[in-house]
Amino acid sequence: MPDTLPRAHEILAATRLEHVRYAIRDLAVLAEDLTRQGKQILPLNIGDPVIFDFDTPAHLIEAAARAMRDGHNGYAPSLGVKPALEAIRAEAEAKGIRNIQSVFVTEGVSEAVDIVLTALLEPHESVLTPLPDYPLYDAILAKLNAQPNSYSLDESNDWQPDVAHLESRVTQNTRGLVVINPNNPTGAVYSRGTLEKIVEVARRHNLVIFADEIYARLILDGEPHISIASLAPDVPVVTFGGLSKEYLVPGWRLGWGIVSGNPAVVAPYVEGIHKLLRARLSANHPLQYAIPAALQGPKDHINETVDKLRRRRDLVMQWARNTRRASCVSPRGAFYAFPRLDIPESDDDFVRGLLAEEHVLVVHGSGFGEAPGTRHIRIVFLPPEPILDQALGKLTEYLERHWP
Ligand code: PLP
Repeated sequence: MPDTLPRAHEILAATRLEHVRYAIRDLAVLAEDLTRQGKQILPLNIGDPVIFDFDTPAHLIEAAARAMRDGHNGYAPSLGVKPALEAIRAEAEAKGIRNIQSVFVTEGVSEAVDIVLTALLEPHESVLTPLPDYPLYDAILAKLNAQPNSYSLDESNDWQPDVAHLESRVTQNTRGLVVINPNNPTGAVYSRGTLEKIVEVARRHNLVIFADEIYARLILDGEPHISIASLAPDVPVVTFGGLSKEYLVPGWRLGWGIVSGNPAVVAPYVEGIHKLLRARLSANHPLQYAIPAALQGPKDHINETVDKLRRRRDLVMQWARNTRRASCVSPRGAFYAFPRLDIPESDDDFVRGLLAEEHVLVVHGSGFGEAPGTRHIRIVFLPPEPILDQALGKLTEYLERHWP
């Protein structure tokens, strides 16, 4: 051993990671510091139903355990096990999706998004993402050195996509567009008219639609959810779904992708996706058997979930109506509200101040992207009414104390 160690060279992370952000989890680190100091945090930040009063349905646990006992413990086929693929396809067809060219199971929608964007994009090409956006998309696009490009969701029109703006953002390098419906972070559910207009844009410019429908069954009011792929059998669409939210198993990491469209057009892209699926071997094998159990089994828990969410959404809207510096478009799906705040400071500072003084954790709107000059926070309305009520009360106190 030499007496002195050679001079340490730091191992630097790749520069492309400078643009990778995930505000939802980044903030949680600050909250953990407070928890270590013995403070109790009211968490309105993470979309995990299972940490509140939503229990995983017993028949899913049984299906997964049975699969393990039955010996499904080796690697699975790369696209997924047959009963799961059949159940996903049948559900997609029941929603009117035709021309299905591929169905595959992944470790959550998160892995599906990573794989399908990686399979599509050359560096410096772009996929249009909504603004505000669920940050996973921009994080993966940054990792791929894709060109950032976004289209506006219109707060003055119930957060529906501004389709004229969307079309104006299409360039020679644009390969696709992301539609999150029901939406995170706004809770909007898109109308048939809006979806039809988006389809027209995709058709005119030869774009792939990435339809994130992970919250499709969590519709709180209004018309039933429409899968955008069902409106356009000729347009290439990748529809994402999964068990995390609707079936209350986010920790199982089970999601899927469904590619639909004209077979002659999408075949090379599908082969690219399959190549990446093979390279990562398979998704979790035994847990995939919970997919047919979920999609074909009893769904009582979904009605119960939606009833609870509706009551909790109403509580948030009552708070927004009664709070002088807040206003909010009523969420109609998922479990997120995105109220606007009329405050002079940035929403980032607001969220940090609220956490430090009131121990309430929400995510700042700028963590999702927002129109310049506007300030928002995202509230997850999963907690039971007493906790939600307490947290909203503290929000009001904080606002009144700082901006009486
Ligand atoms: N897409 C959206 C819109 C989400 O809100 C989330 C999680 O919050 C995901 C995808 C990730 O889902 P999964 O748990 O299936 O990876």
